[in-house]
Amino acid sequence: MPCLVCGAVKTIKAHLIPRTFALEVQVGKAHAVVRESGEYEDTQSGIWNRDILCGACDNEIGKLEGGAKQSLDALRAAAVGKPLGVHRLAGVAGDDIIRFLAALLWKYASTKPSQGRIELGPYKAILENIAFRGAPIPSSVNAVGFRPLRAQNDDGVFAYRAPKPDRKGGVNTMRLMVGGVVFFVKVDKKTPRDDAFREGGMAGQTDLPYWLAPASMFEEFTVGRDLVNRGELSLFLDRQEGREPSE
Ligand SMILES: [Zn+2]
Repeated sequence: MPCLVCGAVKTIKAHLIPRTFALEVQVGKAHAVVRESGEYEDTQSGIWNRDILCGACDNEIGKLEGGAKQSLDALRAAAVGKPLGVHRLAGVAGDDIIRFLAALLWKYASTKPSQGRIELGPYKAILENIAFRGAPIPSSVNAVGFRPLRAQNDDGVFAYRAPKPDRKGGVNTMRLMVGGVVFFVKVDKKTPRDDAFREGGMAGQTDLPYWLAPASMFEEFTVGRDLVNRGELSLFLDRQEGREPSE
């Protein structure tokens, strides 16, 4: 299969969740991704696909991923000790994070059903242009990020979660967790009717807005074990806490 973006014949092993984010939740040598069938997939650095991207295109979004990794590390550090609510991370452009999220969603929309493929409809092409071609971000696309805190001094990552469709503020979104932040990416022409996007929407912002919220508000934390068993949440362990993995 040629590269789905540019048509180049030679494709490479493209990581669906960027390797740098998969590694930060790795414990020891491997973290297990449990599939519904009960078998364990590649455990060294997450899930990948050999048939979607060439080296040049993967490298393009690799720059977005590297920038997002730095920004989300800084966000977690900045969030420690702050009160709940909306905060801003100075000097991080919201559009850069949206382009990173667009690339990740595009990969999940392009992979095999057995790897958790998502359906984006017409937004697949829109996100492809945002991620790979630097296209302007239309008003139908926006994102909010929630930093879930397990404790006041929490700066950990906990886990990542592959994208899945969800609703937020009455609009269609894709929900995922990476870099210790739960993101809702709007893929809908409608305007969300809640405060999350009005106050925390990152499109066009030069200082990245993000929400701080208690971890107990998020299903990624309250039903973690169930998600792991369904293969949606990559299990990892927080060594400092000395926690044991779920079975
Ligand atoms: Zn390509």
